[in-house]
Amino acid sequence: MQILDGKELAKEIRQELAAEVEKRAAMGKRAPHLAAVLVGDDPASQVYVRNKVRSCEKVGFRSTLIRKGADTTEAELLGIVQQLNADETVDGFIVQLPLPGHINEERVTLAIDPRKDVDGFHPANFGRMAQGLPCYLPATPAGVMEMLRRYEIETSGKEVVVLGRSNIVGTPMSILLSRKGSPGNATVTLCHSRTQDLAAHTRRADILVAAIGIPEFVKADMVKDGVVVIDVGINRVDAPGTEKGYRLCGDVDFESVGSKASWITPVPGGVGQLTVVSLLINTLKAANGEVFA
Ligand code: NDP
Repeated sequence: MQILDGKELAKEIRQELAAEVEKRAAMGKRAPHLAAVLVGDDPASQVYVRNKVRSCEKVGFRSTLIRKGADTTEAELLGIVQQLNADETVDGFIVQLPLPGHINEERVTLAIDPRKDVDGFHPANFGRMAQGLPCYLPATPAGVMEMLRRYEIETSGKEVVVLGRSNIVGTPMSILLSRKGSPGNATVTLCHSRTQDLAAHTRRADILVAAIGIPEFVKADMVKDGVVVIDVGINRVDAPGTEKGYRLCGDVDFESVGSKASWITPVPGGVGQLTVVSLLINTLKAANGEVFA
């Protein structure tokens, strides 16, 4: 078993991004600028946004964090989105999801100018992705693609099984891996909660991508020898007696599945590390005007 080391890869990519910032500076161009809007006080969202802002600083990007209370109205939030759309000093921005229940997430996502939509959640970007046009790829699938590319994991002609069909992970993952290109050209099966005899599918997988949000769901008897395992899941499980009282684990039982796998991502230290870096890559593309001419 070999480890697909997200932490190391993220470090490498951050160095490349920092070099790009310096190159831009040498040409008299300002640092790429990412803005993040956080509404409410969901603890996980606070951690995610903090990581994003911190990662910007690490590579020399500029970042702006806009924090609003849980009682922010949809109209107020749409006003902020319009301001960011119009602000020429902001290259890209994200509105951290989930939003408080009284705000319609779809309306907010649709209000974001696709040219600044570095999360890649706007239907304009999603559609462009599906058609293979230049776009901002959603960060987690983009991170997985980058990992497969840099570790030179062959995907062409392989059986890929994706577990989970969310709009932000499973579905885009299945589209990207089945498209022409490298990584890509795979034969993809997309499984979800209505899939019958899930293990019959997973056992056929040369590459298994797990994104369902159930701790250690995939066990050794569900995979074949030599499988490449991409574990997207990040789950908290109780761990009495530890300092924090919990531990993080993926959707895959790392110990047992790892003993059969050729390559596997750890959790933490795998896909999650690349998700943030992918957002930075999108922000650099936005600053360079690479996606929408
Ligand atoms: P969602 O909850 O949006 O989607 C889960 C998907 O899994 C759904 O399509 C659901 O099917 C499917 N599913 C649920 N139970 C089963 C089951 N028993 N068998 C088969 N399929 C099942 O999750 P996300 O895609 O947002 O996230 C998935 C995981 O990835 C989570 O652990 C999350 O924390 C993690 N994550 C990690 C990121 C990272 O940076 N590494 C980023 C984003 C998420 P159905 O559609 O039928 O309901």
